[in-house]
Amino acid sequence: MHPATEPRSRRPEMSYMNESLPEKPSPHSLAVHLPTGRHPRPGRVIFVGAGPGEPDLLTTRAINRLKTADVVVHDQLVPQAVLQLTGSPCLPISRLLSGKHSTGDPGRQIGKWLADLATPGRVVVRLKGGDPTVFARLSEELEPLADQNIPFEIVPGVTAATAAAASAAVPLTSRETASSLTIVTGHEAAAKQEAIDYSSLAAVTGTIVIYMGVEQSPHWSEALLRAGRPADTPVTLVSRCSWADQRIVSSTLADCATAIRRAALPAPAIAIIGSHPAGRPVASRGPLAGTRLLIARPAGQGDQLIEAIIRRGGEAVHLPLIEIGPAPEPAAVEAAIASAWSFDWIIFASINGVRAFHSYLRNSGRDARALGTARLAAIGPATREALEACGLTCDLMPGCYRSEGVLEAIGDSVPQGRFLLVRADRGRDVLRQGLEARGHQVDQVAAYSSRPVPNIDLEARRTLQQFPCDWIVLTSSSIATAAVQLFGDHLTNWKIASISPVTSATLIAAGFPPTVEADEATTTSLLAAIEDHHQSSSGSANRANSNDREKPTAARPPESGTG
Ligand code: SAH
Repeated sequence: MHPATEPRSRRPEMSYMNESLPEKPSPHSLAVHLPTGRHPRPGRVIFVGAGPGEPDLLTTRAINRLKTADVVVHDQLVPQAVLQLTGSPCLPISRLLSGKHSTGDPGRQIGKWLADLATPGRVVVRLKGGDPTVFARLSEELEPLADQNIPFEIVPGVTAATAAAASAAVPLTSRETASSLTIVTGHEAAAKQEAIDYSSLAAVTGTIVIYMGVEQSPHWSEALLRAGRPADTPVTLVSRCSWADQRIVSSTLADCATAIRRAALPAPAIAIIGSHPAGRPVASRGPLAGTRLLIARPAGQGDQLIEAIIRRGGEAVHLPLIEIGPAPEPAAVEAAIASAWSFDWIIFASINGVRAFHSYLRNSGRDARALGTARLAAIGPATREALEACGLTCDLMPGCYRSEGVLEAIGDSVPQGRFLLVRADRGRDVLRQGLEARGHQVDQVAAYSSRPVPNIDLEARRTLQQFPCDWIVLTSSSIATAAVQLFGDHLTNWKIASISPVTSATLIAAGFPPTVEADEATTTSLLAAIEDHHQSSSGSANRANSNDREKPTAARPPESGTG
């Protein structure tokens, strides 16, 4: 059985998800520091089409505009991978709509907000899902800009209709059978039944694409049948087109409302009516296709892992669960740096340790000469790369990337010496104890502090509801501890990937054994373990769901708003 269909009673309590979202964001969450514009000309607003979701479906112009933006105001459903293309602050419109101006037409309210943001010289990008001219309240958002003579530009995007047609290989027009294409909103059906004339619509011999039509599918399908479209008219339903959890369901006009209900197709979804799939495109874009992973690394440290996931066809949501801060006692780090030359070995236990130590070194006006003849060891390849990025050569890296590995590699083989351990303010004490037991003299210094983030805030909860993940990826024991603390039993809704036996031990002790553990403590090995698991489970899931052309294959938390 697909996990999404399990009876609710078997699901654990999702304490943080069950909290209803507050009506208004806290003043703190609205306090974003925005740059005052870098361009010597009036402020302007650029409406940019973000496409259906996958970042490589953006146009080159869209990417260029994102790169030059001073601030990006975006629709809620634009995935992080697209937002990451800009280095500027990103404001979701939910902040505005749940904030102080939340009365009146939302399109005009957003337009006024854009006008306020477009101070002289500032480039505001208004990033909209799909294409900005299709069901996107563009005219309402433009009005306040026109009122104030604020210049604007529109950059087109791949709209959901063409993206879905491409994913499902459904031609939207054809010389023989469909010489027109009509796009329709299904949303208006309930509110203003007279708004769409289904008799005229049915009479045109062309393809109809229904946006925003999931909830109203019984209404529009009935109306088209009554107006004379045959019951066996093909209907292709594409849910979450180009997202990791994309699903394609083939149906008919008579059956599509039931098919939508039975398949519990999540929004956003689109219906293409009147055209058959012309084939079956290659579904898989890589070994992680169809998988969304939650990356919990600290801010600024997930990028390489996320790029590797995207390269393998997966999707990533980055939600830092720990924060890296300054050393608890900066004077101790400074003292260690001043006497660094006197050690035989300096051992770095993490990338953060290298970066923090190096920045204290530079800030004290010193450089590599301050390390004298001390030899440098890194616990694993990423830490070695961090050393090399600072211009320091790594003299030793153990075969097994953990404290025990370092002990094995140097503990017995070097004569008794003085060791400096550069580490976090918390963590295991194995290395110090082991070295001392072998007669070495050991100093340790906490070069940085690491804390769980205080909570999973409103924006993060929204993101997790809108982009449900299959996996949570835990790349250190302290991140695992934070995950247990912040998510509790909700962790059982995800598959858990652990980077090392130490991280796994933390998880097991808390009652959340990992689904997979990396063979060696690197993110490459961790992704390989996830891929293996994903591929073995996709085989059986695909066999079980032959009707659903691209069923998600892994465990999923309940859909948004349900838990
Ligand atoms: N401007 C957007 C449309 C916004 S209206 C565009 O050009 O695509 C929102 C509707 O678009 C959704 O209800 C759904 O019908 C459709 N839609 C948007 N993104 C989608 C996606 N990734 N997959 C399927 N349908 C999508």
